[in-house]
Amino acid sequence: MKSYNLEAFVLRMRPLGEADRIVTLFSRERGKGHAVAKGVRKPHSKFGARLDFFSRVQLSLHTGRSLDVITAAQTVTSSWESVIDPERFGAASYVGEIVDALCEPDLAVEDLYDTVCQFQQGLCDKQADPELLIAAFDLRLLQALGLTPELDACARCGTGLGNRPLAGGRAVLSAHAGGLLCRTCSLQLTESERYADERSGVFSVKAAEFKALRALREAILGDAASLTSAAAGCSASSLHRATRPFIEYQLGRRSKSLTVAGNQQHALRAPKAG
Ligand SMILES: [Zn+2]
Repeated sequence: MKSYNLEAFVLRMRPLGEADRIVTLFSRERGKGHAVAKGVRKPHSKFGARLDFFSRVQLSLHTGRSLDVITAAQTVTSSWESVIDPERFGAASYVGEIVDALCEPDLAVEDLYDTVCQFQQGLCDKQADPELLIAAFDLRLLQALGLTPELDACARCGTGLGNRPLAGGRAVLSAHAGGLLCRTCSLQLTESERYADERSGVFSVKAAEFKALRALREAILGDAASLTSAAAGCSASSLHRATRPFIEYQLGRRSKSLTVAGNQQHALRAPKAG
């Protein structure tokens, strides 16, 4: 049996049989993959507690016939203290979900691994706004997968934006087209494109938000000051509202983590009956 070591993030865990778990991992060398952790649901498991959700771990594995088997785990950096905060847990769940859903198995995406490391650093920094962090993460993930939203020229006809002001002080974006739409193209959308985009979202953002989205592409996720300066006074939720349709267009569905988190927040805010 061949053994090897791997540093990876724990994206997801599912129970298997009586005492085992299937762990979804994301590593620099191998991208997304699954492995079995045997006996980790027993109280005296040697390393079960280290296989925490969204922790960065150093693993030893044996190659198995169908799935590789984890034989040892050491924590590199834990997210445990951050993910006890519901909003940060929601952000980590969202990142886990979209990396799992949008990455091909066994395909290394080194840039994305570095971005996940930075995201974890940001998550542990109490100064960093979790929603701003995921807006920036969305842009980085799309970039790493070669799906960067076009924000410098019209995504449909290629006309450069240059220094021209935005029509009506707003930028029209389309997840279906892949980014910015110039005035001519936004007026020329066909019925079927409008229909496709009603689900994926043709939407407009204020000039300041558009500027912030462009700056957010370069922001350092692990540095709260860099994120805040890129956002330049725009609300984190308005920026995430603009990046989320691009992710959900690629997912082909709504994000489950955000839907659950949204419902929970809504339930917390909802006034009590009677
Ligand atoms: Zn155009």
